[in-house]
Amino acid sequence: MIEMKDVYKTYSNGVIALNGINVRIKQGEFVYVVGPSGAGKSTFIKMMYREEKPTSGSIMINGVNLAKLKDNKVPLLRRHIGVVFQDFKLLPKLTVYENVAFALEVIEESPKIIKKKVMEVLDLVGLKHKARFYPNELSGGEQQRVSIARSIVNSPKIVIADEPTGNLDPDNSWGIMELFETINNRGTTIVMATHNREIVNTIKKRVIAIENGKIVRDEARGEYGYDN
Ligand code: ADP
Ligand code: ADP
Repeated sequence: MIEMKDVYKTYSNGVIALNGINVRIKQGEFVYVVGPSGAGKSTFIKMMYREEKPTSGSIMINGVNLAKLKDNKVPLLRRHIGVVFQDFKLLPKLTVYENVAFALEVIEESPKIIKKKVMEVLDLVGLKHKARFYPNELSGGEQQRVSIARSIVNSPKIVIADEPTGNLDPDNSWGIMELFETINNRGTTIVMATHNREIVNTIKKRVIAIENGKIVRDEARGEYGYDN
């Protein structure tokens, strides 16, 4: 359901970030993307939600080629792909509830459906009781839970996460991983770039390793494979 063919990406400064990527990820898989800093991991996953376009090659997601997707269709794509960042990217002036509801208000869902869906996902991430809080009133782990709730409130088939535990202590990181596993067990594909060696080596999943813009390793139930 995600298929990249001969994907190359050269940034405008001449840096070759992706150098011939070929990969297939099936619906429902859980994939870690690992590799040294600067290897191309972020660029690789940015391709999947069309934050960046390939210089050449194709990226098919559920039959749509993102390399050819018109810019005005990107918002529609984003409704079907949830994205989670290392730094949460919550809107500071909105409450937890409003941050999660935002994605549904944009598509003009009815207030009744919005309330039902928002409270459902806040319950799933264990934060129903903090719906009226503002992001700066939450711990880092809680903020990441809100951002995960926001990423799944539209019931996307795919969730892309770039270093989601990068700003969290170990306890909160394991909690966030449990959540991703729950979401994956409901059938959602998860693609997660991470530097967290312990997590990758403990919660065994497919591992795609990228170095110098190429996939150098792709193993079901793989290891992290680096020292840091
Ligand atoms: P990683 O996520 O593995 O650290 P990135 O995909 O962020 O790797 O970066 C791959 C390479 O592309 C690096 O050399 C980085 O400096 C470069 N790069 C990333 N984003 C940009 C950009 N917007 N413009 C120019 N170069 C970039
Ligand atoms: P951590 O366990 O990550 O250190 P904190 O000490 O930041 O978390 O927060 C502990 C709890 O107190 C959290 O549940 C958070 O929601 C709540 N909290 C933190 N700061 C505030 C605040 N300014 N107003 C209300 N609740 C807060």
